[in-house]
Amino acid sequence: MKLNFLGGVSKVGPLSMVMHQNDMTLIFDHGMLPADPPEYPMRSPLVDIAFLSHSHLDHCGMIPALVRQNDIRVLTTHPTLEVSELLLYDSLKIAGIEGYPKHFEKADIKRTKAAFDMMGYSSKREIGGLEVEIHSAGHIPGSSMFEIKGEETTLFTGDINTSNSRLLWGTSPVECDNLILESTYGGEEHKDRGETEKELLDKIDETLERGGQAIVPVFAVGRTQEILMVLNDRNYDVWYDGMGRTVSRIYQNHEGFIRSIKALRDSVGNANKVKSHSTRKQAMDAEVIVTTSGMLEGGPVLNYLQEIRRDPKSSILLTGYQVEGTNGDMLLNNGMIRDRGATLPVECEVEKYDFSAHAGHSELVEFAKGCEPENIVLMHGDKREELAKDLDEFEIYMPDEGETIEL
Ligand SMILES: [Zn+2]
Ligand SMILES: [Zn+2]
Repeated sequence: MKLNFLGGVSKVGPLSMVMHQNDMTLIFDHGMLPADPPEYPMRSPLVDIAFLSHSHLDHCGMIPALVRQNDIRVLTTHPTLEVSELLLYDSLKIAGIEGYPKHFEKADIKRTKAAFDMMGYSSKREIGGLEVEIHSAGHIPGSSMFEIKGEETTLFTGDINTSNSRLLWGTSPVECDNLILESTYGGEEHKDRGETEKELLDKIDETLERGGQAIVPVFAVGRTQEILMVLNDRNYDVWYDGMGRTVSRIYQNHEGFIRSIKALRDSVGNANKVKSHSTRKQAMDAEVIVTTSGMLEGGPVLNYLQEIRRDPKSSILLTGYQVEGTNGDMLLNNGMIRDRGATLPVECEVEKYDFSAHAGHSELVEFAKGCEPENIVLMHGDKREELAKDLDEFEIYMPDEGETIEL
């Protein structure tokens, strides 16, 4: 079996992996990194079939270009299909606004939607003499690991989380010969989720007690829903805004892909949704505002920040990783944000909480050992050596972009 990574292997970039096995060419993910300027994988060879692990753009962002080039089926789950479609249209819109090159058109997204072939967890498919089984990855709703059984068994993890969150059960190891493992948090550990949740809620209590408001910037996909579930533990007046509204509606229709659909529906139902301009004004007075974008790069969060940024009683509680150079990163380190060309000081309290949807270092090591593989290919991370050190009983591969390895 030969593997060739077209992108996103030596760092968290636009992931794409080509597998040659049984006279078949399979491709796993074909993403786009929404940076400035965006990053893309190398052009794919002709392939027979595609697999899409989940709806984050660094995995799905170039799937329409792939479908346009190949006219193939794309195996995935139903929530991944719906949320990818939403994000792909949005990325096309952003490319238009920012003047980035467009690698596909609206018609290609439509074609991609028709090309999606949906599978549920634990279901199996026969593809060119290979048996494919799909497992929950625990990362975001609908996220999947693909188990490919030929002469040997190979597991492609996509992005994974092994610990439970409010939204999802963590994933478990799958026995295989070849493990292709994401490495995002190589060398880094996460704090216990329950503790993180409590710290966030305590900070909101503190903010409200001193007469302030709390703004909780979130990613639309997964994070909005998880944060609404955490906030539902207390009786706050919560409003939510941004693209997370549509994603929340989608996830509520996918019972088999959520830890407790009832808990999700209750939490979303108990929060107030910003429906229009006038309700956005109403939301300005809320105790807690949950809104995109998670790194303060555009989205309604900037409107809310404009209102409260000079109020030292209020707080801005970041819930995700802040990429260097983003507004969120600038706020954390310099207490400033950029909005419409101006750099503005922010006097609110600023905190960051680690609600990562990825397994931490020890969890990745434990997962890998549990799969009992012979070979491990580390991908999608820039600290793969850290993981390799703790996995020295296995044959480890750390290919670079464009490099072909044979297992
Ligand atoms: Zn992801
Ligand atoms: Zn990723």
